Amino acid sequence: MIKQNLFHIRQKIDSICAKIAKEAREITLVAITKGGTIEQIREAIEAGITDIGENKVQEAALKYSSLQAIGYGLGTIKWHLVGHLQTNKAKEAIRVFDLIHSVDSLPLAFEINKQAANLGKIQDILIEVKTSPEETKFGFTADEAALVIKELFKLKNINIKGLMTIAPRVDNPENTRPYFRNLRELKNKINQLTHQRLTILSMGMSGDFEIAIEEGSNMIRLGRAIFRNS
Ligand SMILES: *Cc1c(COP(=O)(O)O)cnc(C)c1O
Repeated sequence: MIKQNLFHIRQKIDSICAKIAKEAREITLVAITKGGTIEQIREAIEAGITDIGENKVQEAALKYSSLQAIGYGLGTIKWHLVGHLQTNKAKEAIRVFDLIHSVDSLPLAFEINKQAANLGKIQDILIEVKTSPEETKFGFTADEAALVIKELFKLKNINIKGLMTIAPRVDNPENTRPYFRNLRELKNKINQLTHQRLTILSMGMSGDFEIAIEEGSNMIRLGRAIFRNS
């Protein structure tokens, strides 16, 4: 099932990329495996997945160890944290993750920088931006992000690679387009201020990845579309 799902997803990515004159390999597909089993992750890796995303540090750390133990992912798999990170778990997150998508506050950015320095690592991160006004969601507003980014670029042990957003749930995926467009425009604006330092736009999930790619996403985060059984 996973293999078939991925086949269909890749076909969709190919056809959208053809439409917008982009190469499919410019789009990183992150398989979101939260709540999934080791067996499912193994299957996804066998079907060509190279990027694994989780939303909890502890769950990811356990899966990471289990996969290493059976010989999967030794240096070839990239681990992504996409869920909210509590400051007190920053150190553990730095040990496990190649890219932290969910840097949503200054205190968290400072803590990641400090703990990464202690561990001798330069941690790749994305800044999470709240592109819709729902109150429960984490992230900087676009205005805040544009304001703080220069300060954040001064921190030596974090490397800000781009921006991430979660679009609101809507009935018609088409309605997510303005949020994705806003994130792309924010990236362009920040890049004008910072000599084009941002390269990643992490946006698009199972329900809306096609729209996200059309609006410039180069990193999509898919869970249900890969792991569903129908
Ligand atoms: C769960 C999750 C996803 C994947 O969602 P699907 O709708 O299953 O594709 C992507 N991004 C984040 C931040 C998530 O928490």
